Order: sequence, then structure tokens, then C-alpha cells
Amino acid sequence: MSGEQELGITESKEHSPGEWYAEVVQKAGLADYAPMGGFIVTRPRGYAIWERIQDNLDGWFKDTGVTNAYFPMFIPESYLEREKDIVEGFDPEVAWVTKGGHEELEEPLAVRPTSESIIAPFMADWIRSHRDLPMQLNQWCSVVRWEATETKPFFRTKEFLWQEGHTAHADEDGAWEETMTRLDQYARLYEEVMAMPPLKGRKPPHDKFPGAHTTTTVETLMPDGKTVQAATSHYLGTSFAEAFDITYADADEEDTLAHTTSWGLSWRAMGALIMTHSDDQGLVLPPALAPDQVVVVPIWQEDNKDEVVEYAADLAAELDEAGVRVELDDREHRNPGFKYNEHELHGVPLRVEIGPHEVDDGEATLVHRPDGENATVDREDIAETVEEHLDTVHAKLYAEAEETLEGEIREAESREEILGTIGQHGGYVKAGWCGDEDCEEPIKEAIAAEIVMVPLDRDEEPIHDDCAICGEDAEETAYFAKSY
Ligand code: AMP
Repeated sequence: MSGEQELGITESKEHSPGEWYAEVVQKAGLADYAPMGGFIVTRPRGYAIWERIQDNLDGWFKDTGVTNAYFPMFIPESYLEREKDIVEGFDPEVAWVTKGGHEELEEPLAVRPTSESIIAPFMADWIRSHRDLPMQLNQWCSVVRWEATETKPFFRTKEFLWQEGHTAHADEDGAWEETMTRLDQYARLYEEVMAMPPLKGRKPPHDKFPGAHTTTTVETLMPDGKTVQAATSHYLGTSFAEAFDITYADADEEDTLAHTTSWGLSWRAMGALIMTHSDDQGLVLPPALAPDQVVVVPIWQEDNKDEVVEYAADLAAELDEAGVRVELDDREHRNPGFKYNEHELHGVPLRVEIGPHEVDDGEATLVHRPDGENATVDREDIAETVEEHLDTVHAKLYAEAEETLEGEIREAESREEILGTIGQHGGYVKAGWCGDEDCEEPIKEAIAAEIVMVPLDRDEEPIHDDCAICGEDAEETAYFAKSY
């Protein structure tokens, strides 16, 4: 827990990104470390960002046929064991409850690491005929995975908030379309709401979700050259339908196996957001996610205080009326410089400064959080002007992140070249790959980089004829990168 502390950020994003990240998360009031290692406490300012992510996604899900439901957080061991890949895949990360009060439980209960095993049997029960399909469910909840690798607030925690979608369809086409719809919605969230350019791809077969036929992924590149698996959407084929008996009577009354999907986005998205846009002054937020989009700061002397504060208050009220999330900071005991620093630390995208000059001239001075650019504008039509500037802030953030990504996708034709390029620059390196997991091993061992994705389109020709590692025929283009 943080007690008395300096207000500003002391670490450098460029030189010590890990420490800098932890400092921003705490000092911007997003989260604190919980007493148990690997867990965090999400503070109101952090939770407000998560709520906006939820609002956006939830709306899009519902517009495309999904309804929300809620299943228990515990899964009986026998349920978890019904799909063998899930057991094997999650076994080292499952937390178990073996006692209720003082009594040993007859059957241990897993704390859900993901909910296929408790949702699928109910879907099996609810689906009778082809008329019940597709069935598209989602739940917002937390899951627990006892992560062995180092944890980091939002990026990797033992308990994390997420949504998990679970759907059943009559055939592969329907299920694949669903998988892609969700992947596209995740990509849209990153682009339109989070101001981050995403890459879409498939996970290599050895890194698929346990039991999945295909795992698709959205990857985002961080400024330090590491990628983040930013959301995943799985086509599960019929493996879960077989394990849990999800069948339906088709138009000819034939008993037919359903095809299922699952898809999830966690608060790791917030980690990626903070890491991408924030700077040495603190948090930087895109307007769509900022709890306060605008702060109005009146700057007065004793002899003009009333008129300056009144003018600022009127302006704030007008913005509020127009639907802008605005705060009027007329605190008496803080000077303007202190207020600027604090709102910068908290990531308020736009500051409106009102001094006696603005009042006299019927104007307002707008300052953009990401780069300090300012403009003095007419007081008239202020809501419209502010909306335009908020759009500009979003566009600036997106452009900067896009610039980071561009030029960070390189090619390599040999093992040495992959190692050298990632070692020197970070980013993604595309190389021909034979499809054998063993060829990833030497890269993993040497620099802890791995194949983070392959192109979505299975028919896409590999960029080179030969596998960069073993020299056999290349089957795919592999994207190597270090990841969070
Ligand atoms: P999965 O069910 O494994 O496909 O995970 C869905 C999404 O949750 C992944 O794409 C990650 O972005 C995210 N995720 C996985 N593990 C964690 C974790 N320990 N902490 C935060 N987010 C996670």
C-alpha cells in the first residue's frame, strides 16, 4: 500500500519501463498491490476505465446476437476432467477448494480458470433442435489462473477480470463466422476506443487454447518492442460438443454435433493501454476511455476571482450539458501548476484554462494532454470545438502508436538473423516456418522470443520458400517477437 509519496512520476519510461509502469499504475490511482502476491486491488479510477471498455464491447456483443448470463465460479473436478485438453492445459494453474467450513468436500471444486467446462453441459441441456441455434452467451466475471511467470498489474495477474463468450452453432461456417466477428470487435475496440493499431492473426498450433481447433489473436506492439496478446477468439470445432454432448436435431431430425466457439478479452487490455500511451508525466488516456475527458481550470487573482470562476463554471456546465465528461477544478487551496500536474498524472485528455484574458476576449485556451499543444478558441460553440479537439487527441495517440508499429515488422531468413534483429530492435520478425514447434525452440532459448502469430489466412503463401531455422520447406509465415 502506498502511504505518503511524491506526487509525480520519478522513473523513466525509456530507461526503466518496468518500474515506470508500476509507478504510473499506482500514482495515477488505478491499482494497488494486494497482500497476496500476484493479486491487485483495482481502485475507482482504474475500474472506471474497465467499465468503459465493458460498455463498448457489451453493446457490440448485444447488437450481434449475444446475451449475458452468469455461471458459478466453482467447477466440479469431474466436469473439468471431461475435456482432456482443458485438464492438461490448465492443470498447473488451477486453484482448488477442498474444504467448506471444516468439512472436506466430497469432490474438489476448481476455481474457474475459464468456464467452458461448466457452461458446455448446460448448453447441451438447453439445445434441442436446430431452431435453438446459434446460442450465443457471454459472461463478465473474474477467473483465477495460478500463473507461474512473473505477474504484473493488469498484464498478468492470478485473478483477472474479463468477459468470456461461449457459443454453439449448427456447423463450422457459422462457428467460424462467430470467431471472426468477435476478433473483429476486439480489433475495433483497440482502434476506435483505445487508439491502438492491432494485428490480427492465428496462434501457431502448439500455442492454441487447450481443446481449440483454431485460436485467433489480436496482438498489439508496445513501445519497448514487445507484443501483447491483447484478446483471443477460439474456434473449438466439435471437441467440446463431443465431450459434453452438445447435439441438436437437424432439419431431418438427425442428431448432429454442434460446433462451438469461445472468446475473451481481459483487463490485460488496460495494461497494454497504459504501456502504449502514457509518459513520464503519468497516465495518458484516449478520450473514449477517460473518466474525465476535460478539466476546466480557472486561473484568478483576488480582484477578478468571481467573474473568472463563474465564466469557467458556465463553460463546464455547457460541456456537461453536451455530454462531455467534464470536471471543474476550482479548488482554492491548490495553485494552477499543481492542478495541471495532477490532471496530467491522471491522464485527463484535454485541459481548458480560463484566465481574465479569456474572460475579456470571450475565449478559452485548450491544452492537449499527450503533447501539450495548445489553442485559444472562441467561447461560442465551445462544446463542438471541444469535441473536435478530443477527436484530434485520439487521432494523435493512434498516429503515434501506428508509427511505433510501422517499421517494427521486419523479415529474416535465418536463425541468426531472427536473433540479431529481435535482439537489436525488438518488434516482429517475419520468417518462413516449416510448422514444427522444435524450430521455435532455439529462438525461445536464446532470447525468450517466440512465434506469437501466423497469418489468419491459411492459404497465404509463406514469405520465404524455406524455414529460417531448419531449411525444410516453409508452410507458413511465422511472426517472432518477445511478449508480455
Ligand atoms: P485465453 O482464455 O487463455 O485465451 O485468454 C483470454 C485472454 O485473457 C488472453 O488473450 C489474454 O489477453 C488474457 N489473459 C490470459 N491470462 C491472463 C492473466 N493471467 N492476466 C490477465 N489477462 C490474461
